[in-house]
Amino acid sequence: MQERKITLTEKEIPENWYNIVADMPNKPLPPLHPGTKEPIGPEALAPLFPMELIKQEVSAEKWVAIPEEVRDVYSMWRPTPLYRAHNLEKMLDTPAKIYYKYEGVSPSGSHKPNTAVAQAFYNKQEGVKRITTETGAGQWGSALSFACNLFDIECEVYMVKISYHQKPYRKLMMNTWGAKVFASPTDQTDAGRKILAENPDSPGSLGIAISEAVERAAKDEQTKYSLGSVLNHVLMHQTIIGQEALVQMEKAGDLPDIVVAPFGGGSNFAGLAFPFLRLNFDEGKNIRCIASEPSSCPKLTRGIFRYDFGDTVGMTPLLPMYTLGHNFVPAPIHAGGLRYHGAGVVVSQLLKDNYIEAVAHDQLECFEAGVAFARAEGIIPAPEANHAVATVFREAKKAKEEGVSKTILFNLCGHGNFDMKAYEDYFAGKLVKHEVTAEEIQASLAGLDTPVIG
Ligand SMILES: *Cc1c(COP(=O)(O)O)cnc(C)c1O
Repeated sequence: MQERKITLTEKEIPENWYNIVADMPNKPLPPLHPGTKEPIGPEALAPLFPMELIKQEVSAEKWVAIPEEVRDVYSMWRPTPLYRAHNLEKMLDTPAKIYYKYEGVSPSGSHKPNTAVAQAFYNKQEGVKRITTETGAGQWGSALSFACNLFDIECEVYMVKISYHQKPYRKLMMNTWGAKVFASPTDQTDAGRKILAENPDSPGSLGIAISEAVERAAKDEQTKYSLGSVLNHVLMHQTIIGQEALVQMEKAGDLPDIVVAPFGGGSNFAGLAFPFLRLNFDEGKNIRCIASEPSSCPKLTRGIFRYDFGDTVGMTPLLPMYTLGHNFVPAPIHAGGLRYHGAGVVVSQLLKDNYIEAVAHDQLECFEAGVAFARAEGIIPAPEANHAVATVFREAKKAKEEGVSKTILFNLCGHGNFDMKAYEDYFAGKLVKHEVTAEEIQASLAGLDTPVIG
């Protein structure tokens, strides 16, 4: 029998998160105040986040110890398995060796609990009673609901109204773990009421939901806010993925030439790729790390590196990042987790400095690849994960054409068992090739009046 599954024991759950900032030749530029546009210090974030997470957000320490309580919760599903995709290799008839790290075994079905659990733990330690957040497709809302329940914290989720109605099962998962879920815009916040006054039938957006969740936390001493991607501490929590994968690859007697992950705000990409980039920095290795994004929302491949807001309304600090402009409204593609205008600061700087690469795929190519993957390997990927699968297909074909054996590792960051509507639409021929036009991108960027970067 060929070895297929490379597993680790609970004792092998890593003891530290890896903070890549320590190894970056060019450190990230500071965030700016949304009003004064002057650099802000950590204290500006205190109304929204617990102190320990703020410290991690600005930390340049290479290793940050994972609290025992967090490792204990991780052991409910970690270490996650790493698979050698023998069937897929055969199907693609490629000399490439393909491995994938599977994060869909977590209770909520994706990588997101890796940071949700850590964030809930630190909030609990600092006596926080309630956490608010926004969710689009529902992956983040369900991860945070799961984590808050374990640490006995109230969880309020502002779910984009259109998703709230389209994805009742995601909402019910959150309810099952005890969270309150609101269809955003609501009439419970100033931001929500303002939108509803202008448009009572607003389907909502991630930008609006962020504004509601932030407002709620800013106005209540005992309530904090939590974000599931983009920020430095979130990316760092996810490095548990790549550190496990590194040990598993060693056990398999292999090292990847290419590491691939889908890209929304950067957390699952950072999670898998950063520990391998560390080998590039520390040991002079030359591992290519590729972020896969949708051609409907191509901030890395076609956006600009500039200060921009994290939300639509312009309430958040300005961050130096690759962006399509905070007013960019992506087409309603099924990979809801990748419909975000910006990218994490750390991944943006790494891309700017050519330490990582990015590619874009249209949704049709992604679903073709995802369905082929499911037929070969069994697991049905989340629509977001299909982007990584599409990149792997391209690289495996290239290896075949060039007649070279490459080792490819990718992040299967979640399963698609709650995303069957997307697959239904694909089988019904309703998914069309979609790519934003140069005019659309220009129009969105032309409206930006945020600070440019030298
Ligand atoms: C949220 C999510 C993403 C996108 O977010 P990142 O921060 O870029 O990882 C991708 N895949 C899945 C399954 C998600 O839940």
